[in-house]
Amino acid sequence: MNRNVLVFTEMKGSVLRQVSLEALSLGQKIAGDGSLVAAVFGSQASRYAEVLGQHGADQVMVFADPQFDRYQADIYYHAYRKVIQATNPDVILAGHTVNMKDVAPRIASRFGYGLISDCTNVELNGHDLSFIRPIYAGKAFEKKRFTTENMFVTIRPNNFKAEPSPKVQEVVFCEADNVDVQTVIRDIVLKSTGAIDLAEAKIVISGGRGVKSKEGFGPLNELASVLGGATGASRGACDEGYCDYGMQIGQTGKVITPDLYIACGISGAIQHVAGMSNSKVIIAINKDPEAPIFQIADYGIVGDLFEIVPLLTEEFRRR
Ligand code: FAD
Repeated sequence: MNRNVLVFTEMKGSVLRQVSLEALSLGQKIAGDGSLVAAVFGSQASRYAEVLGQHGADQVMVFADPQFDRYQADIYYHAYRKVIQATNPDVILAGHTVNMKDVAPRIASRFGYGLISDCTNVELNGHDLSFIRPIYAGKAFEKKRFTTENMFVTIRPNNFKAEPSPKVQEVVFCEADNVDVQTVIRDIVLKSTGAIDLAEAKIVISGGRGVKSKEGFGPLNELASVLGGATGASRGACDEGYCDYGMQIGQTGKVITPDLYIACGISGAIQHVAGMSNSKVIIAINKDPEAPIFQIADYGIVGDLFEIVPLLTEEFRRR
């Protein structure tokens, strides 16, 4: 088996997204004896050429240009086009991120690639490739195969392992073209959801209406900080004004797959579960033993979150 695989990596600020390394590791498996090229963009891009080589890239294309520090569809589209024309990949891989959701269909349609998005698993059977993705808000999974020769796949963060695999990589420095942009971003209002990106966090402590106030999130934030995780929320908590909608997990919020999800004072409505049911381990803390969240939890604690969460924090802090 040999395929030429291209991975579009992505930065968050000046830091490479973890899902980009996960895509590279997957790319290595799909490429077999073929080539694996990674493209990296932004003023800090050169810093990551070596890291990408350490994760299996044979060649790294570096666009070290500050115009990529802010996502703008036209600018990125033109750079992606340049990379595709230079490498002519059989398979393109990228993280299933907000920016990729925007630009991937455009690339796929312009270059005649089939597109399968939000994959959580891939089956490699000789030359055959099948892609697994959740459907019906995570209640079922579908297995898909491409009917096109060229494939574009976006992967959900935290579902593939990023495994170091050092290669002697070639680094190519590329110039971005001057692009006549169709839309201009005038302002970005950033709402902080903590230091760790919720979509990529390995541990998420989430609060629901049971948290009862903005201040009620204090103990959850503390536990998250001790465990090195991020804080999330149900829509119930967001609607009550206890926290920002940027923290919402679920069907109309973020879909996440952490290693550990601790749901505090969350009933477990289907729309919430759609955003977290694929977490590797789920712990639920709820006063109501009949709360539906216990049906999907690996571990359940029936009790008052304001008593249990500080006890957990204290215990983890000691270890
Ligand atoms: P509740 O259902 O009110 O549950 C609060 C829980 O806290 C209860 O189980 C209670 O027993 C427990 N509790 C109370 N006090 C304590 C305490 N001291 N200690 C421990 N437990 C306590 N919801 C989402 O979360 N995400 C979405 O993306 C989303 N999208 C939606 C889309 C649509 C179209 C619709 C119609 C709804 C959507 N919802 C979504 C809303 C969803 O249906 C629920 O209303 C919401 O998830 C409920 O939030 P909750 O569990 O925090 O609140």
